[in-house]
Amino acid sequence: MKKVMMILLAITLISACSNTTNNVQEEKEQKEHSGKEQVIKETSDEEEKQVGIPEYPKAAQRKIAGGKPDSISDFKPAPIQNENKATYNLDLTMDSDEKFTVTAEVKVENTSKDVWNEIVFYFIPNAFTEENKPESLEDAAEVSVSRIELDGEKADYLLNHDTLYLPLEEGFKPGDEKSVTVRYSFTAPQFGYRLSNNFNNIYLAEWYPMLATYHSGWRKEDYIASGESYFTDYSDFKVKYSLPEEYMVLSTADNDPAVPSKSGELESQNVKEFYMALTKNMEVVQQTAGDVEVRVAGVASADSLKQVLETSVKAVNYFSDKLSPYPHKQIDIIADEGGMEYPGIVTIGLLNGELKNEGRVSQYHALIHEIAHQWFYGIVNNDPYYDVFIDEGLTNFASYLFMIGHDKKTPEEVFQFAKDQEVKTTALAHLPLHEYLNGGFMGANYEIPSLKLWELTGGEQEAFDYLNKYVELYSYQEVDTAEWIRFTKSYFKLNEDQFFREWISYE
Ligand SMILES: [Zn+2]
Repeated sequence: MKKVMMILLAITLISACSNTTNNVQEEKEQKEHSGKEQVIKETSDEEEKQVGIPEYPKAAQRKIAGGKPDSISDFKPAPIQNENKATYNLDLTMDSDEKFTVTAEVKVENTSKDVWNEIVFYFIPNAFTEENKPESLEDAAEVSVSRIELDGEKADYLLNHDTLYLPLEEGFKPGDEKSVTVRYSFTAPQFGYRLSNNFNNIYLAEWYPMLATYHSGWRKEDYIASGESYFTDYSDFKVKYSLPEEYMVLSTADNDPAVPSKSGELESQNVKEFYMALTKNMEVVQQTAGDVEVRVAGVASADSLKQVLETSVKAVNYFSDKLSPYPHKQIDIIADEGGMEYPGIVTIGLLNGELKNEGRVSQYHALIHEIAHQWFYGIVNNDPYYDVFIDEGLTNFASYLFMIGHDKKTPEEVFQFAKDQEVKTTALAHLPLHEYLNGGFMGANYEIPSLKLWELTGGEQEAFDYLNKYVELYSYQEVDTAEWIRFTKSYFKLNEDQFFREWISYE
């Protein structure tokens, strides 16, 4: 097969995990441009023709089983089993023009019962090139794949927007392992979305080829900037970096140095992704929360950073006490990039003055929210394309419980925003991400689930008893909507599905 480079215009929007507003008009316009058009450019000549990545088996959604639940004492969790495994060895070099050259070795194991004719990766830097980037993004990434190897031999591939597809001449049998090496270079767009170069502070989110999950078929959807359209399983990472000058490197790893460095080796086990921030001239403050090192870095006054640090320590302590111990030795909080969670590191946006709890859309809330994601996203996994309310809803709910239990706000104050959103929202939870492009994303997935859980629990202690059981049963497992409903029905002894049907899409 000829090596080809493909361009697919995809649905694109700006947003972040704790976002508050969407520009509906922009969403509509971009939706009209979405997903249909495929143009291919061959790297060998100028000819353009219509070619797409071949059809490949896609994962199906599990049906939600109605009816009477098991009693909680007999309840056996049935998380989804992902049927592949990736181990990453990443070598990252930055030159003096802030261009990165990467050798990504990914060991892929087929733990399914199927013989695969392809391997499918997310390759998100390619969603930000001039041809592919969201219209709202001013600057583009430069991405160039120089070579891909399969078990050491040069391999054919197709790169279509953020899908990297390797056709296999011989089937990839169950139980086998293959090594995929992707050699490429990229730049991070200035003021990009998560993958971003902000005045020499460089944020590397989803910067390497990430193996798509496999559930009797591949689960890989097109990139959407307004949510998390990528879904990965837990993996081990080794990351080597080499930089032209000293940067403070903050990352998913526990062993990232707290001093500027030009090179180093980082490691993380059993995490969903590996995030790195290369920072210059940032103030850094740190303190421990029990055994956990909490480190805050930002482009802000020392006073603002100290406020973030104090609140972060309280949140890590609170959730560790109420849910389960925080799962890493260190947590980094970066106050520069938009609100987003990554394993062992979160971003909360530029600080604008004092960090005050001024309700749901405040930066204070965003900070608590991103930290709570370390449990609902970090410890319990779910597909944020199809089951986004599971992590966003539970994270938002846990943040509200912090406001009630820790900050001593009244439930009426805390849930007022959710009630307002409930009135405005007609969309249901458990729709695929692209179906929220006309609105309703936050109401359906963050706020209504929080209100409904408060209705079921009615108190901070009761709520944490439930969340605690959930985290205990599903640590480092994947929960989908069907399983979440099965557990919740059982826990609260709900015989009917009516409670859920009112706000969750069943089919
Ligand atoms: Zn979130």
